Amino acid sequence: MLSYLHAFHAGNFADVHKHAALTLAIRMMHSKSSGIACFDTHAGSAFYDLTDKSALKTGEAASGIHRLWSWRDRLHGDDWQAMLDEWAQGQGADGSLVDYPGSPHWFERYLRQQDNLTAFELHPAEGQTLANWARRHSRVRVLQEDGLKGLLSHLPPRQPRLLALVDPSYEIKTDYEEVARTMTRAWQKCRHGVYLIWYPILPGRPDEKLKQAISASPINKVLCSEVMRNHAPQRGMCGSGMLVVNPPWGFNNRLAVMMRAAARDSCLGVGLSMQWLVAE
Ligand code: SAM
Repeated sequence: MLSYLHAFHAGNFADVHKHAALTLAIRMMHSKSSGIACFDTHAGSAFYDLTDKSALKTGEAASGIHRLWSWRDRLHGDDWQAMLDEWAQGQGADGSLVDYPGSPHWFERYLRQQDNLTAFELHPAEGQTLANWARRHSRVRVLQEDGLKGLLSHLPPRQPRLLALVDPSYEIKTDYEEVARTMTRAWQKCRHGVYLIWYPILPGRPDEKLKQAISASPINKVLCSEVMRNHAPQRGMCGSGMLVVNPPWGFNNRLAVMMRAAARDSCLGVGLSMQWLVAE
């Protein structure tokens, strides 16, 4: 089933949370010079048009990136500045944002000579858009394959270090267990890898299955960052969650500072929590 299109959701509060965690992890991993094999298991497009009718239909960016952008003067420090500089590239003539970068762009932006990115995208049209974009980027490879199976088939990587973003659309209820099974196998093949696993927080909390399965697995050192909407809609996402396996040292504190700034004075309209799901 491939009915999900991220163009309807790009730039929402969950994307801000996910991409803040992703860019922080990449930038912190740059403190060492050894090469990083990057994987984006569910890549979507590299860019989304926020003026497109899909984006305007849901209006999700309004309470996400548009709101954060209008409050940007309050986002201090290098960690936010790195993102603000990227978002600024997508400004229209009136200063508002018309383009929103997706995860492949955030990865590509930070690839060094010794790093590369493998991006999986199964949707034919999305995969083609991504492949067209990747033609301009020699260290990016796009594979129109299943991202979870694809990740496993490429582990362990040739480079000494690994960073993987696992960001499925969770269209099927069993996706939560499938992600946990894949993560366990991936960790067994590459234990030192940094894995970011995004999940939606929905009524009924189906994400608990994912967290319980990860807790019961042999994986250790798993951070859990959650962002809950203060006024959740009756249907749809009430929050955004991110599990980070093997976060760089100090990542939790820096992400907490970033997200607190974004939540301050009801900017994103969210409450925050962060704890270790599995301790070291
Ligand atoms: N990671 C993107 C970002 O942060 O900008 C958003 C990705 S979106 C949540 C999920 C994407 O996964 C969709 O583009 C969808 O077409 C794709 N997809 C769905 N099933 C897939 C599969 N089995 N393997 C790879 N991609 C898949």
